[in-house]
Amino acid sequence: MRAMVLKVLRQPLECVALAERAPGPGQIRLNITACGVCRTDLHVVDGELADPHVPIIPGHEIVGRVDALGDGVTGLRIGERVGVPWLGHTCGTCTHCRAGRENLCDHPLFTGYTRDGGFATSTIADAAFTFPLGEAGSDVSMAPLLCAGLIGWRSLKIAGDGTKLGLYGFGAAAHIVAQIAKWQGRTVYAFTRPGDTAAQAFARSLGAVWAGGSDEMPPDRLDAVIIFATVGSLVPLALQAVCKGGRVVCAGIHMSDIPSFPYRLLWEERQILSVANLTREDGLEFLRLVPEIGIVTHTRTYPMDQANTALADLRAGRFEGAAVLTPFVGI
Ligand SMILES: [Zn+2]
Ligand SMILES: [Zn+2]
Repeated sequence: MRAMVLKVLRQPLECVALAERAPGPGQIRLNITACGVCRTDLHVVDGELADPHVPIIPGHEIVGRVDALGDGVTGLRIGERVGVPWLGHTCGTCTHCRAGRENLCDHPLFTGYTRDGGFATSTIADAAFTFPLGEAGSDVSMAPLLCAGLIGWRSLKIAGDGTKLGLYGFGAAAHIVAQIAKWQGRTVYAFTRPGDTAAQAFARSLGAVWAGGSDEMPPDRLDAVIIFATVGSLVPLALQAVCKGGRVVCAGIHMSDIPSFPYRLLWEERQILSVANLTREDGLEFLRLVPEIGIVTHTRTYPMDQANTALADLRAGRFEGAAVLTPFVGI
């Protein structure tokens, strides 16, 4: 197999040939046909997450076809198309797992962070943590659903039922959430980097009734906002944008420090919440709805060996929607 490997934190990924691995009990091997590039991959590369593991193959929005079945795997067949998300394994026995909150498991494995992920020709995954994808939709179009879509979905549920929804940071996740929110009959307000008129136009094209800079206040008080950007100083701004009882949901795995702010911004039962990981139930629920909602993902593709370019373009905000890696050139 070939893979783009992070050997040293904050250094470019290296293209490496590795021996093909055999799936263990309960695991499958899949041939990867597409893998999305997520903001979290940048945090992995930058060493911003706790206990970084290197060497590691990043990538946790994996679409592929089952190539080998380990002992005890039932319900999946060779050639079937499946998706592999961020949550790669949970212990099943800790208090959080037993309470149905496996997203908070004390002993999890995360794809592309604490176990090898999808910037490769193949990978090994726990069969019980993969999602059957069926045959509708292209591999590239499905890949961003596996994190941007799933985390977006969980964030939207945690944001509550309010109709006026703000989205800070209009990247891969927000462009999917905007489509879901519109389908649910909500009104979407999009906040981008100040002056990013291309992202604002993109947000309007997906149904946002207002799009402006994150330094602006929206024309209406919002019921909830979801912050996908990694900028802690947005939290006090978002608190000012929500109405009494409004929610500010921080959806990223990492954020710069939140500056201090006057208590009056939180007063009147405003809430700040974070979203961590996903449960398999979130994934099944969301993927069932995708065809009904008619979500269209906007993607920019890069061959797998161009993963470093994709990461750099994501960091610089050089495209709208989501980056997706496709198989290595010449393989
Ligand atoms: Zn657990
Ligand atoms: Zn992700």
